[in-house]
Amino acid sequence: MAELAQIGVTGLAVMGRNLARNFARHGYRVAVHNRSYAKTTSLIDDHGDEGTFVPSESMRDFVASLEKPRRVVIMVKAGAATDAVIDELLGLLDEGDIVIDAGNAHFPDTRRREAALKERGLHFVGTGVSGGEEGALNGPSIMPGGSPESYQTLGPMLEEISAKVNGEPCCTHVGPDGAGHFVKMVHNGIEYADMQLIAEAYDLIRQGTGKSAAEIADIFRTWNSGDLESFLIEITADVLGHVDAKTGSAFVDIVLDQAEQKGTGRWTVQNALDLGVPITGIAEATFARALSGSVPQREAARKVLPADAEAWQVDDPDAFIEDVRLALYASKVVAYSQGFDQIAAASEEFDWNIDRGAMAKIWRGGCIIRARFLDRITEAYQRDPELPLLLADEYFTGAIGNSLAAWRRVVMAAARHGVPTPAFSSSLAYYDGVRAERLPAALIQGQRDFFGAHTYRRVDGDGTFHTEWSADR
Ligand code: NAP
Repeated sequence: MAELAQIGVTGLAVMGRNLARNFARHGYRVAVHNRSYAKTTSLIDDHGDEGTFVPSESMRDFVASLEKPRRVVIMVKAGAATDAVIDELLGLLDEGDIVIDAGNAHFPDTRRREAALKERGLHFVGTGVSGGEEGALNGPSIMPGGSPESYQTLGPMLEEISAKVNGEPCCTHVGPDGAGHFVKMVHNGIEYADMQLIAEAYDLIRQGTGKSAAEIADIFRTWNSGDLESFLIEITADVLGHVDAKTGSAFVDIVLDQAEQKGTGRWTVQNALDLGVPITGIAEATFARALSGSVPQREAARKVLPADAEAWQVDDPDAFIEDVRLALYASKVVAYSQGFDQIAAASEEFDWNIDRGAMAKIWRGGCIIRARFLDRITEAYQRDPELPLLLADEYFTGAIGNSLAAWRRVVMAAARHGVPTPAFSSSLAYYDGVRAERLPAALIQGQRDFFGAHTYRRVDGDGTFHTEWSADR
Protein backbone atom coordinates (compact mmCIF):
# COMPACT_ATOMS: atom_id res chain seq x y z
CA MET A 1 0.00 0.00 0.00
CA ALA A 2 1.16 3.51 -0.85
CA GLU A 3 2.47 5.68 1.97
CA LEU A 4 -0.26 7.58 3.79
CA ALA A 5 -0.51 11.33 3.31
CA GLN A 6 0.59 13.65 6.12
CA ILE A 7 -2.05 16.27 5.48
CA GLY A 8 -5.20 16.51 3.39
CA VAL A 9 -6.88 19.42 1.66
CA THR A 10 -10.53 19.28 0.64
CA GLY A 11 -11.80 22.14 -1.51
CA LEU A 12 -9.50 22.77 -4.45
CA ALA A 13 -10.65 26.11 -5.84
CA VAL A 14 -7.97 28.83 -6.08
CA MET A 15 -7.10 28.88 -2.38
CA GLY A 16 -7.20 25.16 -1.59
CA ARG A 17 -5.35 24.22 -4.77
CA ASN A 18 -2.52 26.63 -3.97
CA LEU A 19 -2.37 25.66 -0.31
CA ALA A 20 -2.11 21.99 -1.31
CA ARG A 21 0.70 22.87 -3.74
CA ASN A 22 2.46 24.85 -1.01
CA PHE A 23 2.39 21.81 1.33
CA ALA A 24 3.60 19.54 -1.49
CA ARG A 25 6.43 21.91 -2.43
CA HIS A 26 7.58 21.71 1.19
CA GLY A 27 7.92 17.96 0.86
CA TYR A 28 4.68 16.86 2.51
CA ARG A 29 2.58 14.04 1.07
CA VAL A 30 -0.75 15.78 0.46
CA ALA A 31 -4.11 14.06 0.11
CA VAL A 32 -6.39 16.11 -2.14
CA HIS A 33 -10.15 16.08 -2.63
CA ASN A 34 -12.86 18.29 -4.07
CA ARG A 35 -16.64 17.87 -4.24
CA SER A 36 -16.49 17.76 -8.03
CA TYR A 37 -13.61 15.56 -9.13
CA ALA A 38 -12.63 17.74 -12.11
CA LYS A 39 -10.75 20.20 -9.86
CA THR A 40 -8.77 17.34 -8.33
CA THR A 41 -7.71 15.92 -11.69
CA SER A 42 -6.87 19.39 -12.97
CA LEU A 43 -4.57 19.95 -9.97
CA ILE A 44 -2.79 16.66 -10.64
CA ASP A 45 -2.59 17.29 -14.41
CA ASP A 46 -1.24 20.83 -14.01
CA HIS A 47 0.97 20.49 -10.95
CA GLY A 48 1.30 16.80 -10.09
CA ASP A 49 5.06 17.02 -10.62
CA GLU A 50 5.53 19.61 -7.86
CA GLY A 51 5.43 17.01 -5.07
CA THR A 52 3.51 14.01 -3.77
CA PHE A 53 -0.24 14.32 -4.14
CA VAL A 54 -2.68 11.56 -3.20
CA PRO A 55 -5.91 12.26 -5.09
CA SER A 56 -9.28 10.76 -4.09
CA GLU A 57 -12.66 11.02 -5.70
CA SER A 58 -14.69 10.19 -2.58
CA MET A 59 -14.44 11.71 0.88
CA ARG A 60 -14.16 8.17 2.30
CA ASP A 61 -11.06 7.37 0.23
CA PHE A 62 -9.62 10.82 1.00
CA VAL A 63 -9.90 10.23 4.77
CA ALA A 64 -8.55 6.70 4.41
CA SER A 65 -5.48 8.07 2.59
CA LEU A 66 -4.36 10.07 5.64
CA GLU A 67 -2.01 9.02 8.45
CA LYS A 68 -3.30 9.31 12.03
CA PRO A 69 -3.99 11.56 13.77
CA ARG A 70 -5.47 12.85 10.54
CA ARG A 71 -5.05 16.48 9.59
CA VAL A 72 -7.78 17.63 7.23
CA VAL A 73 -7.78 21.17 5.87
CA ILE A 74 -11.18 22.38 4.65
CA MET A 75 -10.87 25.18 2.07
CA VAL A 76 -14.40 25.59 0.74
CA LYS A 77 -16.87 28.44 0.46
CA ALA A 78 -17.44 29.81 3.98
CA GLY A 79 -20.82 29.16 5.64
CA ALA A 80 -23.17 26.29 4.78
CA ALA A 81 -20.57 24.56 2.56
CA THR A 82 -18.17 24.29 5.51
CA ASP A 83 -20.92 22.72 7.67
CA ALA A 84 -21.77 20.31 4.85
CA VAL A 85 -18.14 19.17 4.57
CA ILE A 86 -17.80 18.83 8.35
CA ASP A 87 -20.97 16.69 8.46
CA GLU A 88 -19.57 14.45 5.76
CA LEU A 89 -16.25 14.12 7.55
CA LEU A 90 -17.70 13.41 10.99
CA GLY A 91 -18.66 9.80 10.33
CA LEU A 92 -15.24 9.06 8.85
CA LEU A 93 -12.84 10.53 11.41
CA ASP A 94 -11.49 9.06 14.65
CA GLU A 95 -10.88 10.55 18.05
CA GLY A 96 -7.83 12.84 18.10
CA ASP A 97 -8.08 13.77 14.41
CA ILE A 98 -7.73 17.45 13.55
CA VAL A 99 -10.11 19.34 11.29
CA ILE A 100 -8.75 22.68 10.09
CA ASP A 101 -11.12 25.24 8.60
CA ALA A 102 -8.90 27.59 6.63
CA GLY A 103 -11.78 29.44 4.94
CA ASN A 104 -13.03 32.87 5.93
CA ALA A 105 -15.46 31.68 8.61
CA HIS A 106 -17.22 34.08 10.94
CA PHE A 107 -15.74 33.43 14.39
CA PRO A 108 -19.07 32.62 16.14
CA ASP A 109 -19.47 29.77 13.62
CA THR A 110 -15.98 28.60 14.48
CA ARG A 111 -16.79 28.66 18.19
CA ARG A 112 -19.95 26.60 17.54
CA ARG A 113 -18.09 24.09 15.35
CA GLU A 114 -15.21 23.74 17.79
CA ALA A 115 -17.58 23.00 20.67
CA ALA A 116 -19.50 20.44 18.59
CA LEU A 117 -16.39 18.60 17.40
CA LYS A 118 -14.82 18.63 20.85
CA GLU A 119 -17.79 16.59 22.12
CA ARG A 120 -16.84 13.94 19.59
CA GLY A 121 -13.18 13.93 20.63
CA LEU A 122 -12.05 15.83 17.54
CA HIS A 123 -9.91 18.96 17.36
CA PHE A 124 -11.32 21.80 15.33
CA VAL A 125 -8.89 24.51 14.32
CA GLY A 126 -10.43 27.64 12.81
CA THR A 127 -7.56 29.21 10.91
CA GLY A 128 -7.26 32.61 9.30
CA VAL A 129 -5.27 32.59 6.07
CA SER A 130 -4.36 35.89 4.47
CA GLY A 131 -2.57 36.78 1.28
CA GLY A 132 -5.00 35.65 -1.40
CA GLU A 133 -4.11 33.00 -3.93
CA GLU A 134 -0.52 34.19 -4.32
CA GLY A 135 0.01 33.99 -0.55
CA ALA A 136 -1.57 30.54 -0.34
CA LEU A 137 0.98 29.28 -2.86
CA ASN A 138 4.13 31.09 -1.81
CA GLY A 139 3.58 31.69 1.91
CA PRO A 140 0.54 33.23 3.57
CA SER A 141 0.14 34.74 6.99
CA ILE A 142 -1.59 32.02 9.01
CA MET A 143 -3.67 32.60 12.15
CA PRO A 144 -4.66 29.28 13.71
CA GLY A 145 -7.02 29.01 16.67
CA GLY A 146 -8.09 25.76 18.34
CA SER A 147 -6.50 23.81 21.18
CA PRO A 148 -2.81 24.20 22.08
CA GLU A 149 -2.62 20.39 21.82
CA SER A 150 -3.63 20.45 18.15
CA TYR A 151 -1.05 23.17 17.48
CA GLN A 152 1.73 20.87 18.69
CA THR A 153 1.31 18.55 15.74
CA LEU A 154 -0.17 20.99 13.23
CA GLY A 155 1.79 24.13 14.07
CA PRO A 156 5.18 23.12 12.65
CA MET A 157 3.59 22.24 9.29
CA LEU A 158 1.71 25.54 9.11
CA GLU A 159 4.77 27.49 10.17
CA GLU A 160 6.78 25.80 7.45
CA ILE A 161 4.42 26.81 4.63
CA SER A 162 3.82 30.34 5.97
CA ALA A 163 5.57 33.51 4.82
CA LYS A 164 8.87 34.29 6.58
CA VAL A 165 10.19 37.64 7.71
CA ASN A 166 13.82 37.68 8.85
CA GLY A 167 13.58 33.90 9.00
CA GLU A 168 10.61 34.01 11.38
CA PRO A 169 7.34 32.34 10.35
CA CYS A 170 4.22 34.46 9.88
CA CYS A 171 2.22 31.90 11.83
CA THR A 172 1.63 31.38 15.52
CA HIS A 173 -1.02 29.84 17.74
CA VAL A 174 -3.40 32.77 18.23
CA GLY A 175 -5.48 31.28 21.03
CA PRO A 176 -8.20 28.69 21.63
CA ASP A 177 -11.47 28.16 19.77
CA GLY A 178 -12.47 31.07 17.49
CA ALA A 179 -9.42 33.26 18.25
CA GLY A 180 -7.77 32.61 14.87
CA HIS A 181 -10.78 33.52 12.78
CA PHE A 182 -11.46 36.50 15.04
CA VAL A 183 -8.00 37.91 14.48
CA LYS A 184 -8.30 37.29 10.72
CA MET A 185 -11.60 39.23 10.79
CA VAL A 186 -9.95 42.21 12.51
CA HIS A 187 -7.03 41.94 10.07
CA ASN A 188 -9.54 42.36 7.23
CA GLY A 189 -11.21 45.26 9.03
CA ILE A 190 -7.84 47.00 9.37
CA GLU A 191 -7.29 46.30 5.67
CA TYR A 192 -10.55 48.18 4.92
CA ALA A 193 -9.35 51.17 6.98
CA ASP A 194 -5.90 51.17 5.40
CA MET A 195 -7.37 51.06 1.88
CA GLN A 196 -9.83 53.88 2.62
CA LEU A 197 -7.09 56.07 4.12
CA ILE A 198 -4.89 55.56 1.07
CA ALA A 199 -7.85 56.36 -1.19
CA GLU A 200 -8.54 59.57 0.74
CA ALA A 201 -4.87 60.59 0.45
CA TYR A 202 -5.02 60.04 -3.32
CA ASP A 203 -8.25 62.02 -3.64
CA LEU A 204 -6.90 64.98 -1.65
CA ILE A 205 -3.72 65.16 -3.71
CA ARG A 206 -5.59 64.81 -6.99
CA GLN A 207 -8.16 67.46 -6.10
CA GLY A 208 -5.79 69.73 -4.21
CA THR A 209 -2.89 69.80 -6.66
CA GLY A 210 -4.42 68.63 -9.94
CA LYS A 211 -1.70 66.02 -10.34
CA SER A 212 -2.47 63.10 -12.65
CA ALA A 213 -2.97 59.53 -11.49
CA ALA A 214 0.44 58.64 -12.94
CA GLU A 215 2.12 61.49 -11.06
CA ILE A 216 0.44 60.39 -7.83
CA ALA A 217 1.66 56.84 -8.53
CA ASP A 218 5.20 58.24 -8.39
CA ILE A 219 4.45 60.03 -5.10
CA PHE A 220 3.21 56.76 -3.62
CA ARG A 221 6.36 55.01 -4.82
CA THR A 222 8.42 57.56 -2.92
CA TRP A 223 6.26 57.09 0.18
CA ASN A 224 6.84 53.37 -0.12
CA SER A 225 10.52 53.87 0.65
CA GLY A 226 9.75 55.43 4.06
CA ASP A 227 7.58 54.84 7.15
CA LEU A 228 4.56 54.02 5.01
CA GLU A 229 6.27 51.13 3.21
CA SER A 230 3.59 48.51 2.72
CA PHE A 231 2.06 46.12 0.23
CA LEU A 232 -1.05 48.32 -0.05
CA ILE A 233 0.93 51.48 -0.86
CA GLU A 234 3.00 49.51 -3.36
CA ILE A 235 0.00 48.08 -5.22
CA THR A 236 -1.80 51.44 -5.07
CA ALA A 237 1.09 52.96 -7.01
CA ASP A 238 0.75 50.19 -9.59
CA VAL A 239 -3.03 50.65 -9.87
CA LEU A 240 -2.64 54.43 -10.26
CA GLY A 241 0.08 53.99 -12.87
CA HIS A 242 -2.01 51.54 -14.89
CA VAL A 243 -3.41 52.73 -18.21
CA ASP A 244 -6.68 51.33 -19.57
CA ALA A 245 -5.90 49.52 -22.82
CA LYS A 246 -9.28 50.31 -24.36
CA THR A 247 -9.33 54.08 -23.84
CA GLY A 248 -5.76 55.05 -23.07
CA SER A 249 -7.07 56.78 -19.92
CA ALA A 250 -5.80 56.24 -16.41
CA PHE A 251 -7.36 52.97 -15.24
CA VAL A 252 -8.65 54.61 -12.05
CA ASP A 253 -10.72 57.02 -14.18
CA ILE A 254 -12.60 54.35 -16.08
CA VAL A 255 -13.61 52.27 -13.04
CA LEU A 256 -17.08 52.80 -11.57
CA ASP A 257 -16.66 54.48 -8.17
CA GLN A 258 -18.72 51.97 -6.19
CA ALA A 259 -16.64 49.89 -3.77
CA GLU A 260 -17.88 46.40 -3.02
CA GLN A 261 -17.38 44.20 0.02
CA LYS A 262 -17.67 40.58 1.00
CA GLY A 263 -18.60 41.08 4.64
CA THR A 264 -15.57 40.84 6.92
CA GLY A 265 -15.51 44.64 7.43
CA ARG A 266 -19.16 44.51 8.41
CA TRP A 267 -18.53 41.63 10.84
CA THR A 268 -15.68 43.58 12.42
CA VAL A 269 -17.87 46.62 12.98
CA GLN A 270 -20.79 44.55 14.27
CA ASN A 271 -18.50 42.85 16.77
CA ALA A 272 -16.96 46.17 17.84
CA LEU A 273 -20.46 47.41 18.66
CA ASP A 274 -21.09 44.27 20.73
CA LEU A 275 -17.82 44.74 22.60
CA GLY A 276 -18.25 48.51 22.91
CA VAL A 277 -14.88 49.23 21.29
CA PRO A 278 -14.63 52.36 19.12
CA ILE A 279 -13.10 51.34 15.80
CA THR A 280 -13.96 54.51 13.92
CA GLY A 281 -11.38 54.02 11.16
CA ILE A 282 -12.68 50.57 10.22
CA ALA A 283 -16.32 51.63 10.63
CA GLU A 284 -15.94 54.74 8.48
CA ALA A 285 -14.12 52.72 5.84
CA THR A 286 -16.96 50.19 5.79
CA PHE A 287 -19.59 52.93 5.62
CA ALA A 288 -17.63 54.77 2.91
CA ARG A 289 -17.94 51.66 0.73
CA ALA A 290 -21.68 51.55 1.51
CA LEU A 291 -22.03 55.25 0.65
CA SER A 292 -20.21 54.77 -2.64
CA GLY A 293 -22.71 52.06 -3.53
CA SER A 294 -25.76 54.12 -2.48
CA VAL A 295 -26.51 55.07 -6.07
CA PRO A 296 -30.06 56.49 -5.76
CA GLN A 297 -29.04 58.59 -2.75
CA ARG A 298 -25.95 59.90 -4.53
CA GLU A 299 -27.95 60.80 -7.63
CA ALA A 300 -30.59 62.60 -5.59
CA ALA A 301 -27.95 64.48 -3.58
CA ARG A 302 -25.79 65.42 -6.56
CA LYS A 303 -28.73 67.25 -8.15
CA VAL A 304 -29.71 69.49 -5.26
CA LEU A 305 -27.10 69.69 -2.51
CA PRO A 306 -24.73 72.65 -2.84
CA ALA A 307 -21.07 72.41 -1.82
CA ASP A 308 -20.56 76.02 -0.81
CA ALA A 309 -16.88 75.08 -0.65
CA GLU A 310 -13.76 77.11 -1.35
CA ALA A 311 -11.95 76.55 -4.62
CA TRP A 312 -8.60 74.83 -4.21
CA GLN A 313 -5.54 76.98 -4.28
CA VAL A 314 -2.49 75.17 -3.03
CA ASP A 315 0.49 77.50 -3.15
CA ASP A 316 3.07 74.91 -2.19
CA PRO A 317 2.01 71.50 -3.60
CA ASP A 318 5.04 69.70 -2.16
CA ALA A 319 4.25 70.95 1.35
CA PHE A 320 0.61 69.93 0.93
CA ILE A 321 1.59 66.45 -0.26
CA GLU A 322 3.90 66.07 2.74
CA ASP A 323 1.01 67.11 5.01
CA VAL A 324 -1.18 64.44 3.43
CA ARG A 325 1.55 61.85 3.97
CA LEU A 326 1.82 62.73 7.64
CA ALA A 327 -1.98 62.75 8.04
CA LEU A 328 -2.14 59.34 6.41
CA TYR A 329 0.47 57.96 8.78
CA ALA A 330 -1.25 59.36 11.88
CA SER A 331 -4.69 58.14 10.79
CA LYS A 332 -3.22 54.74 10.08
CA VAL A 333 -1.77 54.52 13.57
CA VAL A 334 -5.25 55.29 14.95
CA ALA A 335 -6.92 52.60 12.81
CA TYR A 336 -4.39 49.96 13.90
CA SER A 337 -4.55 51.06 17.52
CA GLN A 338 -8.32 50.63 17.43
CA GLY A 339 -8.05 47.20 15.79
CA PHE A 340 -5.63 46.05 18.49
CA ASP A 341 -8.04 47.38 21.14
CA GLN A 342 -10.73 45.21 19.63
CA ILE A 343 -8.46 42.16 19.78
CA ALA A 344 -7.66 42.92 23.44
CA ALA A 345 -11.35 43.29 24.28
CA ALA A 346 -12.32 40.02 22.60
CA SER A 347 -9.39 38.24 24.18
CA GLU A 348 -10.68 39.35 27.59
CA GLU A 349 -14.32 38.55 26.76
CA PHE A 350 -13.61 35.01 25.51
CA ASP A 351 -10.55 34.29 27.65
CA TRP A 352 -8.27 33.80 24.63
CA ASN A 353 -5.10 35.32 26.05
CA ILE A 354 -4.01 36.75 22.67
CA ASP A 355 -0.51 38.19 22.46
CA ARG A 356 -1.01 41.38 20.41
CA GLY A 357 2.70 41.76 19.67
CA ALA A 358 2.71 38.26 18.16
CA MET A 359 -0.22 39.23 15.93
CA ALA A 360 1.64 42.27 14.59
CA LYS A 361 4.61 39.97 13.98
CA ILE A 362 2.71 37.39 11.90
CA TRP A 363 1.14 40.16 9.81
CA ARG A 364 4.57 41.44 8.70
CA GLY A 365 4.67 39.04 5.77
CA GLY A 366 2.33 37.11 3.52
CA CYS A 367 -0.77 39.16 4.18
CA ILE A 368 -2.45 42.14 2.57
CA ILE A 369 -1.63 44.57 5.41
CA ARG A 370 2.05 43.60 5.54
CA ALA A 371 4.08 46.69 6.25
CA ARG A 372 7.24 48.01 7.84
CA PHE A 373 5.00 49.75 10.35
CA LEU A 374 4.09 46.38 11.94
CA ASP A 375 7.65 46.10 13.26
CA ARG A 376 6.99 49.26 15.29
CA ILE A 377 3.80 47.70 16.69
CA THR A 378 5.59 44.48 17.63
CA GLU A 379 8.25 46.54 19.41
CA ALA A 380 5.60 48.55 21.26
CA TYR A 381 4.01 45.39 22.67
CA GLN A 382 7.46 44.00 23.49
CA ARG A 383 8.10 47.14 25.55
CA ASP A 384 4.77 46.64 27.33
CA PRO A 385 2.68 43.52 26.61
CA GLU A 386 -0.23 45.05 28.56
CA LEU A 387 -0.07 48.41 26.74
CA PRO A 388 -3.58 49.90 27.22
CA LEU A 389 -3.43 51.96 24.03
CA LEU A 390 -1.06 51.55 21.10
CA LEU A 391 -1.20 55.30 20.47
CA ALA A 392 0.27 55.86 23.93
CA ASP A 393 3.44 53.89 23.20
CA GLU A 394 6.48 56.15 23.19
CA TYR A 395 7.30 55.55 19.53
CA PHE A 396 3.78 56.32 18.29
CA THR A 397 3.37 59.29 20.62
CA GLY A 398 6.46 60.78 18.98
CA ALA A 399 5.37 59.88 15.45
CA ILE A 400 1.91 61.37 15.92
CA GLY A 401 3.35 64.42 17.64
CA ASN A 402 5.37 65.08 14.47
CA SER A 403 2.27 64.66 12.29
CA LEU A 404 -0.33 66.45 14.35
CA ALA A 405 -0.17 69.96 12.87
CA ALA A 406 -0.18 68.54 9.34
CA TRP A 407 -3.05 66.20 10.19
CA ARG A 408 -5.18 69.10 11.43
CA ARG A 409 -4.32 71.20 8.35
CA VAL A 410 -5.34 68.37 6.03
CA VAL A 411 -8.66 67.69 7.78
CA MET A 412 -9.43 71.44 7.78
CA ALA A 413 -8.53 71.72 4.10
CA ALA A 414 -10.76 68.75 3.26
CA ALA A 415 -13.70 70.36 5.09
CA ARG A 416 -13.12 73.79 3.55
CA HIS A 417 -12.93 72.39 0.04
CA GLY A 418 -15.74 69.86 0.40
CA VAL A 419 -13.68 66.70 -0.04
CA PRO A 420 -15.03 63.74 1.94
CA THR A 421 -12.37 62.27 4.23
CA PRO A 422 -14.36 60.15 6.69
CA ALA A 423 -11.40 58.05 7.81
CA PHE A 424 -8.91 60.94 8.14
CA SER A 425 -11.46 63.11 9.97
CA SER A 426 -12.87 60.46 12.28
CA SER A 427 -9.35 59.31 13.21
CA LEU A 428 -8.45 62.83 14.24
CA ALA A 429 -11.71 63.13 16.20
CA TYR A 430 -10.91 59.83 17.94
CA TYR A 431 -7.42 61.07 18.74
CA ASP A 432 -8.78 64.25 20.29
CA GLY A 433 -11.49 62.29 22.09
CA VAL A 434 -9.24 59.69 23.62
CA ARG A 435 -6.69 62.26 24.85
CA ALA A 436 -9.27 64.80 26.15
CA GLU A 437 -9.04 65.77 29.79
CA ARG A 438 -12.81 66.10 29.94
CA LEU A 439 -15.50 65.06 27.45
CA PRO A 440 -19.07 66.30 26.99
CA ALA A 441 -20.14 62.83 28.10
CA ALA A 442 -20.93 64.52 31.43
CA LEU A 443 -23.75 66.40 29.71
CA ILE A 444 -25.05 63.19 28.16
CA GLN A 445 -25.20 61.65 31.64
CA GLY A 446 -27.28 64.66 32.74
CA GLN A 447 -29.66 64.23 29.81
CA ARG A 448 -30.03 60.52 30.56
CA ASP A 449 -30.75 61.19 34.19
CA PHE A 450 -33.26 63.88 33.22
CA PHE A 451 -35.44 61.80 30.94
CA GLY A 452 -34.86 58.32 32.27
CA ALA A 453 -33.58 58.60 35.85
CA HIS A 454 -30.53 56.63 34.69
CA THR A 455 -28.38 58.19 37.45
CA TYR A 456 -24.85 59.56 37.20
CA ARG A 457 -21.58 59.44 39.10
CA ARG A 458 -19.86 62.54 40.49
CA VAL A 459 -16.28 63.78 40.18
CA ASP A 460 -16.09 64.42 43.91
CA GLY A 461 -17.18 61.13 45.44
CA ASP A 462 -18.26 57.51 45.01
CA GLY A 463 -21.79 56.26 44.44
CA THR A 464 -24.56 56.90 41.96
CA PHE A 465 -26.87 59.91 42.11
CA HIS A 466 -30.16 61.07 40.71
CA THR A 467 -31.48 64.60 40.54
CA GLU A 468 -35.19 65.42 40.91
CA TRP A 469 -35.32 67.41 37.68
CA SER A 470 -39.01 68.37 37.97
CA ALA A 471 -38.07 70.64 40.89
CA ASP A 472 -35.96 72.72 38.47
CA ARG A 473 -38.68 73.31 35.88
P1 NAP B 1 -14.65 29.58 -3.09
O1 NAP B 1 -15.00 30.12 -4.41
O2 NAP B 1 -14.95 30.36 -1.89
O3 NAP B 1 -15.33 28.13 -2.92
C1 NAP B 1 -15.28 27.16 -3.94
C2 NAP B 1 -14.94 25.81 -3.34
O4 NAP B 1 -15.94 25.42 -2.37
C3 NAP B 1 -14.95 24.73 -4.41
O5 NAP B 1 -13.93 23.81 -4.10
C4 NAP B 1 -16.32 24.13 -4.24
O6 NAP B 1 -16.43 22.82 -4.71
C5 NAP B 1 -16.45 24.15 -2.74
N1 NAP B 1 -17.84 24.02 -2.29
C6 NAP B 1 -18.82 24.92 -2.40
N2 NAP B 1 -19.96 24.44 -1.85
C7 NAP B 1 -19.67 23.20 -1.37
C8 NAP B 1 -20.41 22.22 -0.69
N3 NAP B 1 -21.69 22.40 -0.36
N4 NAP B 1 -19.80 21.07 -0.35
C9 NAP B 1 -18.49 20.88 -0.67
N5 NAP B 1 -17.74 21.77 -1.30
C10 NAP B 1 -18.32 22.92 -1.65
O7 NAP B 1 -13.08 29.17 -3.12
P2 NAP B 1 -11.77 30.04 -2.78
O8 NAP B 1 -11.82 31.40 -3.39
O9 NAP B 1 -10.63 29.13 -3.09
O10 NAP B 1 -11.85 30.26 -1.21
C11 NAP B 1 -11.89 29.17 -0.31
C12 NAP B 1 -12.04 29.71 1.10
O11 NAP B 1 -10.91 30.54 1.39
C13 NAP B 1 -13.27 30.59 1.31
O12 NAP B 1 -13.77 30.37 2.59
C14 NAP B 1 -12.73 31.99 1.18
O13 NAP B 1 -13.51 32.93 1.88
C15 NAP B 1 -11.35 31.83 1.81
N6 NAP B 1 -10.36 32.80 1.40
C16 NAP B 1 -10.27 33.19 0.10
C17 NAP B 1 -9.30 34.11 -0.28
C18 NAP B 1 -9.17 34.54 -1.71
O14 NAP B 1 -8.35 35.43 -1.99
N7 NAP B 1 -9.91 33.92 -2.64
C19 NAP B 1 -8.40 34.61 0.66
C20 NAP B 1 -8.48 34.16 1.97
C21 NAP B 1 -9.46 33.25 2.31
P3 NAP B 1 -16.87 22.54 -6.26
O15 NAP B 1 -15.63 22.73 -7.06
O16 NAP B 1 -17.38 21.17 -6.25
O17 NAP B 1 -17.93 23.56 -6.60
